[in-house]
Amino acid sequence: MPTQLTNLLGLSKTKMEAFLLSLGEKPFRAIQLMKWIHQQGVTDFDAMTNISKSLRASLKECAEIRLPLIKECYEAEDGCFKWVVEVTSGSSVEMVYIPEAGRGTLCISSQAGCSLDCKFCATGKQGFNSDLTTAEIIGQLWLVNQTFNTFGTKASRKVTNVVMMGMGEPLMNFDNVMDAVGLMMEDNCYGLSKRRVTISTSGVVPKIYEMQEHTDASIAVSLHAPNDELRSEIVPINRKYPIKELLSSVNAYLDSLTDSRVATIEYILISGVNDHRQHARELAEILKETPCKINLIPFNPFAGSDYNRSSDSAISNFRKILQEAGYIVTVRTTRGDEIGAACGQLVGQVDDTTRRSARHLAAQKQKQAESNAVQSLKVQ
Ligand code: SAH
Ligand code: SF4
Repeated sequence: MPTQLTNLLGLSKTKMEAFLLSLGEKPFRAIQLMKWIHQQGVTDFDAMTNISKSLRASLKECAEIRLPLIKECYEAEDGCFKWVVEVTSGSSVEMVYIPEAGRGTLCISSQAGCSLDCKFCATGKQGFNSDLTTAEIIGQLWLVNQTFNTFGTKASRKVTNVVMMGMGEPLMNFDNVMDAVGLMMEDNCYGLSKRRVTISTSGVVPKIYEMQEHTDASIAVSLHAPNDELRSEIVPINRKYPIKELLSSVNAYLDSLTDSRVATIEYILISGVNDHRQHARELAEILKETPCKINLIPFNPFAGSDYNRSSDSAISNFRKILQEAGYIVTVRTTRGDEIGAACGQLVGQVDDTTRRSARHLAAQKQKQAESNAVQSLKVQ
């Protein structure tokens, strides 16, 4: 059987050093290799001119630099891009680039699908297929950087920030995400600052505690409800890790950082579900002990979604209550929704291994049949 080639794209510095040692090479070569791969975008060992011929020859025998495959690319009127990227499992995931004044944010996927089934999320409705490898996660940033280097004549087309807010729950694919985030912040690779790399989580509490030992990236928490009763309904992982435990773990993470940073609290506004004034007051109360800013996200609809976006007046009332309570509040503007690139709309193509997507489809058909029956009764 042919031996499997090691994909160098996904190796952290420590793993690259160990790999080189296993070839009888000095560990300092790791930095040279990583610069070629991540900074120069080189995938051909022969182009790595400061690497000895003998090492290049052995690399060709046992290693490769393999990227995920871009299958589709869409550009929205507002300058957002969405790419559909095929990964080894055969599924495809999506990533989105959002240009803003003075910065460009890349929203990266960590899993094909998601096992957590939040009620408002298109990815969750698809079920779960697989974790992305470190190479497939960092490969998304590599691909966009190289695309912009080659075709991006606009100065604004540059990735300055990365958010792990694409498909999947990053902390359910912990090791691979930690390694990828490490590469993003590594000076010899992408050199992004810890303030410009954000891991968004729906609240996998033990892993938030574990993060302290592996990273000092920024954290965003998908809270979406101010009490356990409502949160457990729309974010099912809350039944396992309720709000109090979640916020304690976030506080502990913030305490572990050497600078004074705050968490971003993400809160989707869904009409008639979590957008009442009383919800805003409750939210202001429960966040008192957590250093944070609040990002309100008007719900983005998708095919088969059960919810509606809150009205402009509900959004502005909600914001006002939080601001009056002393919080910094931003309302996320919906970007790229005509290409299905807005938050919560990312779907790619996921071969569901959980049968959840089939169950959702059946429930949707049932609802449609019931509403048709009611309509025909009305007509009679
Ligand atoms: N699993 C992680 C990261 C991916 S989701 C998490 O849940 O945090 C990224 C963000 O998009 C989260 O805040 C998520 O709650 C939000 N989101 C999901 N569905 C949405 C929708 N339909 N409209 C608006 N935001 C949505
Ligand atoms: Fe998964 Fe995040 Fe979507 Fe919830 S919101 S289903 S955790 S991707």
